[in-house]
Amino acid sequence: NMLPLVDEICMHNVTFGYGDGPDILKNVSFHIPAGSFATFVGSSGSGKSTALQLLMRFYDPREGSITFDGVDLRKMSEKSLREQVGVVFQDTFLFNATVRENLQMGRSGITEEEMIAAAKAANIHETIMAWPQGYDTPIVQEGASLSGGQRQRLSIARSLLRKPKILLLDEVTSALDPSTEGHINQTIEGLKGTTTTISVTHRLSSIVHADLIFVFHDGRIVEIGSHKEL
Ligand code: ATP
Ligand code: MG
Repeated sequence: NMLPLVDEICMHNVTFGYGDGPDILKNVSFHIPAGSFATFVGSSGSGKSTALQLLMRFYDPREGSITFDGVDLRKMSEKSLREQVGVVFQDTFLFNATVRENLQMGRSGITEEEMIAAAKAANIHETIMAWPQGYDTPIVQEGASLSGGQRQRLSIARSLLRKPKILLLDEVTSALDPSTEGHINQTIEGLKGTTTTISVTHRLSSIVHADLIFVFHDGRIVEIGSHKEL
């Protein structure tokens, strides 16, 4: 499992807008090498989440192209894309089933050890074990009774369990306290080399560990560098 199967994530002169609306991304190009940890930063409305949505192919660019490993996203099957890309958004989706079922999402062949490892990496294992039925605890009201941070960590564990080659995180640590955030940041750092991660964040503590920082402004990337360079 040491060799990343995706060489790189690239946008090539991508321009995009929603529907008939104005251009939201304007001639955006970037290159994220396999196994690296990149962050998207920049002001609200600058297009960071939109860029992630294009990487998941929720939409296609108006102009330009997006490639994974040199392969145009438009030539990839939806199944292959869903297998390769793990996503955690701010609004996480839990359903009324046990914790275990929420983590495994109907996939078979997941061992107890793998599930626990993912939960530990997301800093949620101890919380789960403190619940009366542990991993068999039912989640009710789609998780409304859990804290935002708990929902977030369950969602991160679920994504890690899928072992995606590409992991997209949109402000996932915003609902977390600093200690939990630090733990998740360590986990993301530990994925370097095997997972290509893009994290949208406002937190300096998340940025310092990034290999590459892309600064968005008004639909363009205006700066690229490491934390030291910027
Ligand atoms: P934030 O830091 O607030 O999350 P962001 O950098 O992620 O901001 P986006 O969510 O990508 O910004 O939004 C970029 C622009 O696109 C904004 O002007 C926003 O209003 C617009 N936009 C986002 N989603 C849609 C949509 N589904 N339909 C139309 N316009 C949209
Ligand atoms: Mg956003």
